[in-house]
Amino acid sequence: MTKHASSDCADVVIIGGGINGTSLAFHLAREKAGKIVVLEKSQLSTGATGKSGGLVRCNYTNEAEARLALTSLEYFQNWEGIVGGSCGFDPCGLVVIVPPGKLADLKHNMSWQRAMGIPIRLIARDEVNQIDSSMYMEESIDYVGFEESAGYADPNAANYSFMKASRDLGAEYRIGTGAVRIVHSNNQVQGVLTNQGMIHSPVVVVAAGIGANRLFAPLGLDLGLTPTLTRIVTFRWTPERTQRHPTCMDYVHNTWFRPTSESCTLMGSESGVRPIHGRIRTSESVPDHLIREYRELLARRYPVMNNANARGNWAGLFMTSPDSRPVIGPLEPYSGLYTVAGDSGTSFKTAPSIGKGLSELILHGKASTVDLSPFYASRFDRVQPWVDSHRYSQDNATISR
Ligand SMILES: Cc1cc2nc3c(=O)[nH]c(=O)nc-3n(C[C@H](O)[C@H](O)[C@H](O)COP(=O)(O)OP(=O)(O)OC[C@H]3O[C@@H](n4cnc5c(N)ncnc54)[C@H](O)[C@@H]3O)c2cc1C
Repeated sequence: MTKHASSDCADVVIIGGGINGTSLAFHLAREKAGKIVVLEKSQLSTGATGKSGGLVRCNYTNEAEARLALTSLEYFQNWEGIVGGSCGFDPCGLVVIVPPGKLADLKHNMSWQRAMGIPIRLIARDEVNQIDSSMYMEESIDYVGFEESAGYADPNAANYSFMKASRDLGAEYRIGTGAVRIVHSNNQVQGVLTNQGMIHSPVVVVAAGIGANRLFAPLGLDLGLTPTLTRIVTFRWTPERTQRHPTCMDYVHNTWFRPTSESCTLMGSESGVRPIHGRIRTSESVPDHLIREYRELLARRYPVMNNANARGNWAGLFMTSPDSRPVIGPLEPYSGLYTVAGDSGTSFKTAPSIGKGLSELILHGKASTVDLSPFYASRFDRVQPWVDSHRYSQDNATISR
């Protein structure tokens, strides 16, 4: 790419200092892609990244997402060597619980996942207690899935280390600089107008989380993205439960949870997810009635947590796409315009491979490490929406999809 020296010119401008923006900056900088400028209107990790539950797992119900997650897993496992610094990855495993009628779907998915190299196996209900002695398994559930290499990581630490590594490689971060408008001439991107002035660039990437629609609208782009509120509560372990536990996707109760520190469980539920239409004005905390509901849902899986104290809670926003899958790739009809948007609550675990794939697409015209084409916005032109035939989550599920 052309190397730009002037301060108001860049080879690539990335809008958004969340994990997708910093991952892309890292991969572009590693490829010596010229002058990379990351614009962040507020602070690093202000958006979904700073609120993420940090689950890292590969058991998606389609190969495209599973491949993104598996490729990213290598980063989480070797973070210090690949990125530098720490991402706080704890590979404590993942228990996948599906309703009895969905066991055949789980088995089907596990067979292609194993062929792909994902270490996932079926375990009988009485074996579950060897992994987690506090976990209750109803009589109707004979088997669950167990993904050994899954776990959770620290999204803030991961974002910080991507930022630091990319900055060390020459990427420039303009914190407090907001993108106001993407400028183009005859559909060829010219740069970004910011609240600090114009930055000329032939390539602009919108990784702006819930800020994406504002940037797309003046371009006449409507990807059908909806800001979506989700809530997390952490509960202190009661004295009856002392053992650390694995992460869990519970498709019976549409909840997900993981350990945090040595004494708490962090959980989310699809019942705490709410689309936001109109102006975004949400509380940063979780209402009491929802905390009670979460506790009751958690106690169905962990009866010993029936009276667990809530230690903390927070609310976060992510952007949901019409089919609850991220939109990654070029944005037609514009030349030089790319996005990673509509993460639908799933893109922390996949951000390393998204950044790598997008950097290849921008630099070489094709993503070779992972196939990004299933995630292009052009999929919305098809009559049939993207629906996985062997899914087990509820319709419109987000984080627990
Ligand atoms: C509560 C919660 C729990 C989650 N749990 C998980 C999980 O367990 N596992 C998982 O994989 N994923 C999870 N996710 C989803 C995951 O966190 C997101 O998919 C991921 O963080 C998205 O990163 P991003 O960089 O695309 O967006 P964001 O992190 O939202 O970053 C976008 C950034 O762009 C900035 N910005 C916006 N507009 C502009 C502008 N005009 N100019 C400049 N900057 C701008 C914002 O300030 C923000 O910092 C969760 C999300 C939430 C909210």
